[in-house]
Amino acid sequence: MAERCSNCGRELDGQRCIYCDTLADAVKSYQLYGKGHVGFAFLGFLFPFVGFLIYIAFRQRHPEGARFILIGVIISTFIAIVLGLAFVAMFAFSQ
Ligand SMILES: [Zn+2]
Repeated sequence: MAERCSNCGRELDGQRCIYCDTLADAVKSYQLYGKGHVGFAFLGFLFPFVGFLIYIAFRQRHPEGARFILIGVIISTFIAIVLGLAFVAMFAFSQ
């Protein structure tokens, strides 16, 4: 079963459409998820719990992207712990 170009609909011979120079969806998703984009670290940072679930789901197919998400989750968790401790310390010393 031949893949079709997502842009012009013609059959793809390889990873790139020879008619309109559009990359195949598989390549696009690889570039988006597989290369370890910094955006995934940011996503993991903003939503550590969701990021961790995405890490579990993606670590087999996209280990690079999953690793970046995990880095974001770890940074976010670390900052949360530091802020939490700072808050507790502030509260304790103000009594
Ligand atoms: Zn095309």
